[in-house]
Amino acid sequence: MDLGISGRRALVSAASKGLGRGVAEALAAAGVDLVINARGAEALNATAAEIAARYGVKVDAVVGDITEPETRARVLAAAGAVDILVTNAGGPPPGHWQTWSRDDFLRAIDANMLTPVALMQACLPGMIERGWGRVVNITSAAVKSPIAELGLSNTARAGLTGFVAGTARQVARNGVTINNLLPGLHATDRATALDAGAAAREGITPAEAAARRAAGIPAGRYGTPAEFGAACAFLCSAHAGYIVGQNILLDGGAFNATL
Ligand code: NAP
Repeated sequence: MDLGISGRRALVSAASKGLGRGVAEALAAAGVDLVINARGAEALNATAAEIAARYGVKVDAVVGDITEPETRARVLAAAGAVDILVTNAGGPPPGHWQTWSRDDFLRAIDANMLTPVALMQACLPGMIERGWGRVVNITSAAVKSPIAELGLSNTARAGLTGFVAGTARQVARNGVTINNLLPGLHATDRATALDAGAAAREGITPAEAAARRAAGIPAGRYGTPAEFGAACAFLCSAHAGYIVGQNILLDGGAFNATL
């Protein structure tokens, strides 16, 4: 399927690995030029070079922590007039509700709510002016179905979801869509780290922890970054202009509900 976005330009934050990289690859496969970002220079530059070579698109890499205003300014300057924005950042660490401090909450809210909001505030005016734009925020299945030990994530992402719900409906008439993609378990470094934490808590191996978690998913497995990227690329496509303000679960059926 031709996604109709060849020659467009996208900014994908936190994209050297995992879901962000899956998105960058899927957009590149659709002919989209990219600006990608991550903190670690080595992995980021390697990813940029591999994607550029494989798909023949232009890929600019900007190293830095996307939750820092100074990094965002450099990323946005490199991005210029982007048509597509995909926001992503690392998720907060697991813990217990009783021990989280005000600073822990502020760090999570900064990374998983205020950073995507700031990127949208920077990119939306140009998209509106040009009459076309696509924004996808990578959030979490925890927005719909809380994961107790990830309470910092549940809290921050709920705030982002509220912002998007209203804003998406304000910008839609300008040809600009904003939606959220909610990953359930996907096979990335983040999932490996959470498996290791579960293994330590339950006194089993990380492989056993992963198998237990996969068994609880109707699809019987973790999702892949490539599947996630393909779904995101469709939301960024020319065909997705009527999908507005949605929260779309990619979780192999794990959220048990009729609607
Ligand atoms: P991942 O495999 O750990 O990859 C994270 C990517 O983001 C890396 O490229 C990392 O590179 C970059 N990154 C992290 N923090 C950053 C920051 N502050 N500034 C710039 N780049 C940053 O994680 P993932 O599994 O793809 O998860 C992506 C998001 O989806 C996270 O918010 C996670 O909580 C959420 N999520 C994931 C799952 C899952 O099962 N995988 C499920 C639900 C939600 P550097 O470390 O070099 O910066």
